[in-house]
Amino acid sequence: SIPLGYFGGIGAASRLGVLFKGGNYLDAITKINTVVFDKTGTLTKGTFNVQLCKTQPGISKEELIRLAASVERNSTHPIAKAIVNHAEEKNITPVSTTEVTEIAGYGLETNIEGTRILVGNIRLLSKYQVSYPKELSAIPDTIVVCAIGTEYAGYLLLSDSLKEDAFQAVEELKALNINNIQILSGDRQSIVTNFAQKLGITKAYGDLLPDGKIKYVEELRQDSRNQIAFIGDGINDAPALALSNVGIAMGGLGSDAAIETADVVIQTDQPSKVATAIRAGKQTRKIMW
Ligand code: ADP
Ligand code: MG
Repeated sequence: SIPLGYFGGIGAASRLGVLFKGGNYLDAITKINTVVFDKTGTLTKGTFNVQLCKTQPGISKEELIRLAASVERNSTHPIAKAIVNHAEEKNITPVSTTEVTEIAGYGLETNIEGTRILVGNIRLLSKYQVSYPKELSAIPDTIVVCAIGTEYAGYLLLSDSLKEDAFQAVEELKALNINNIQILSGDRQSIVTNFAQKLGITKAYGDLLPDGKIKYVEELRQDSRNQIAFIGDGINDAPALALSNVGIAMGGLGSDAAIETADVVIQTDQPSKVATAIRAGKQTRKIMW
């Protein structure tokens, strides 16, 4: 049975925008010493903007944007939404595509009039043995590359930005004496490192496939001294949320899968509510004992 005090704690936390799915998590959250954030949509706004488009000779920007948008229409990824919006703004009408395959952590693959089309990251091109200019690896922003058949066709450069509240989130956790703060992401390492440095986070791991995130949290769990809170918003994050000691979903724009799997749901888009949740747990303990 749940001691009465927890009901008061759950109510108080919910008034602060943090939903605890049970009194046991109010207790568990006070023991957290390791906080692992997903990047996109959790610490960053997750709303990308297309900054520029670069094509191979013989392909126009309009063609490349049309191609990318036609394929991305079939995806709900934040990157996909940005590309579809960009085409719309430029009055570029996508063509209809059938049987588009989404490969988590890579991008999309389809067939248009008998030609294989790839839209995703450079890892996707490598997977299909499509060669691309070496310079692409050095671009310090998120890029979406396209291939037509076996040929690299060009890229779109997108930017995301940190939430103002992400700085607050780190500051408040450190004030609670939680110094083991980490970022996990499927995005490229250089981008993840850049955001992490701005936030004062030293442990930042990029280039992770959805499976890689799960394995990483599993490994952390092997050492019982690590009491882990994982904070994420995406469908991909559900397994990591389930594996951590306390799984926390960003409820604002988060996916249903993340919200359902989590033990605690933040009802805004503010990662600093993680600290709010920990303080609520500690406050409840103080009242009870
Ligand atoms: P994260 O939420 O950490 O970015 P994901 O697994 O969702 O992790 O994505 C990892 C990477 O895979 C993205 O950064 C992007 O490069 C690529 N990717 C995934 N889905 C798409 C898509 N629909 N279009 C283009 N690239 C994609
Ligand atoms: Mg995410």
